[in-house]
Amino acid sequence: SLAWTLRQHFQGFPKPSDFQLKKETLPEPEDGEVLLEAVFLSVDPYMRPYSRNMMKEGDVMIGEQVAKVIKSRHPSFPVGCHVTSKCGWRSHWVCAGAELIPVLPDWPQDVSLSLALGAIGMPGLTALYGLEEVCGIKEGETLLVNAAAGAVGSIVGQIGKIKGCTVVGCAGTDAKLAYLKELGFDRAFNYKTVTSLEDALKEAAPNGYDCYFENVGGHFSSAVMPQMREFGRIAVCGSISMYNDTTPQTGPYVHSHMVFKQLKMEGFLCGRWKHKNQESLRRLMSWLTEGKLKSCEHVTSGFDNMPAAFIGMLKGDNIGKAVVKV
Ligand code: NDP
Repeated sequence: SLAWTLRQHFQGFPKPSDFQLKKETLPEPEDGEVLLEAVFLSVDPYMRPYSRNMMKEGDVMIGEQVAKVIKSRHPSFPVGCHVTSKCGWRSHWVCAGAELIPVLPDWPQDVSLSLALGAIGMPGLTALYGLEEVCGIKEGETLLVNAAAGAVGSIVGQIGKIKGCTVVGCAGTDAKLAYLKELGFDRAFNYKTVTSLEDALKEAAPNGYDCYFENVGGHFSSAVMPQMREFGRIAVCGSISMYNDTTPQTGPYVHSHMVFKQLKMEGFLCGRWKHKNQESLRRLMSWLTEGKLKSCEHVTSGFDNMPAAFIGMLKGDNIGKAVVKV
């Protein structure tokens, strides 16, 4: 069995030499345990900030995967069934059945199981909870989302359309803007090529934004505040523009706009609504099978390429969810 470890803590942007591939010897599964083989592995932005706080050098990289049961001593998880497991960047793993989450029952034949790491998994749930639970989004409102062509952002915008909103997205390449148009976003702009972020935000929604799904943080966040409408809601999902900073950015500061427009800003982790996951995943799956929700993936082949896939995702190589196919 193989595992990718954190050879040394990242300094600034992660580089290939920060990772090390190691061999692990696994025990035979005991009663109540199974042996898993990774099929798809997820690379996600949170791994970068979590590595600093929750990992020691030499630890196996954290992460979720879709795995196949190849040996079983647990009646609920027979050989051949698929599960999601948070066992990290590992090719194989022995664990108790109690730690596993079976993929949704009745998973359609024509839907790739990798979506359990994307649209029908944690990123899809994040999009849904951020909009419904945090923003309390309503029909007819104007929604802004950044990192809009990514795993979470692309679902945010599409749910916004399902709910009858005007949706503005922002991403870092023109190919991504074209993709956002395909998904039904009303307007999209490239934050890297606009001359003024303030002007681009204003032009995309002259009457301002009711809801802002925040994935990027930093200066982007500062630029959006003045464009929020009265009683606007900001769901703070992530701040990827700051994850690789070696020196903290100055600002953004709390604006007077927060006061005078009576804005609500709330950070959240998708795990807060775990008790709703099964019902929410079913809802996401039915939107997908009805064709209301599209999913795109950026698939890297080979377990050997985990670090490259992770670094590529942080750089913005991905349209849709970045996954690795073993
Ligand atoms: P994505 O699939 O969106 O991939 C990351 C994207 O971020 C890149 O493709 C890139 O696209 C963009 N990006 C990278 N650097 C910058 C930068 N400096 N400024 C602006 N954009 C940048 O990842 P996810 O959808 O998985 O995650 C999106 C956000 O959601 C992250 O902040 C993540 O931490 C957060 N998150 C939070 C969760 C929660 O529970 N709160 C759960 C899951 C994710 P581009 O070309 O547009 O720059």
